[in-house]
Order: sequence, then structure tokens, then C-alpha cells
Amino acid sequence: MELGPGIPCRCPCGALTVVLTSKTKENPGRRFYRCGVVSGENHVFKWADEALVEEIEALSVKQASMENDLIEIKEHLIDIKKDITEIVEVVAAFSTKI
Ligand SMILES: [Zn+2]
Repeated sequence: MELGPGIPCRCPCGALTVVLTSKTKENPGRRFYRCGVVSGENHVFKWADEALVEEIEALSVKQASMENDLIEIKEHLIDIKKDITEIVEVVAAFSTKI
């Protein structure tokens, strides 16, 4: 089963995932995501620490994209303010001629 990066919210079977804590000798206290209904092959199992690192990496990419979008929006806003100023000046010029 191939999972996407980050925190798995749903198992391919449709069930919500749960976060549990390992009690094995190999991974004591390590938290993991698992299918909330069925434990086994073809159902979600993912270590929480690995999922969280992936989630942070994905969020970092999204944040960078949103920061670029914000820069563009600010530039458009400056242009819009300039346009409004010009329109107000034109309207003022016309109103003095009427
Ligand atoms: Zn499942």
C-alpha cells in the first residue's frame, strides 16, 4: 500500500486513523498512525515521527508558495491603489470643468 506524504488521516479502507503508542522492544513508546478499524496488511501503518517530518516538509513548501502569492498580491494592491488615485484625479479634473 502506497501512502502519500504526511499525516495519514484516512486509511484506504475509508476508516479514520488513530494514533497509538508502540509497546514493542524495538520501538518502545514510539507513536504511530494506524487504521482505526483494522490492523494489518492493506491498512494504514505509519510511524508518527516520520509522518510529522513529511508533514512539516510539505507545509514548508506550501508556506513558500503562499509567501510568493502574498508578494504578488501586495504588488497588485499597490497597482490598484495607483489606479484609484488616477481615477480620483480624473474625476476631480472633470468635476471642476462641469
Ligand atoms: Zn483500514
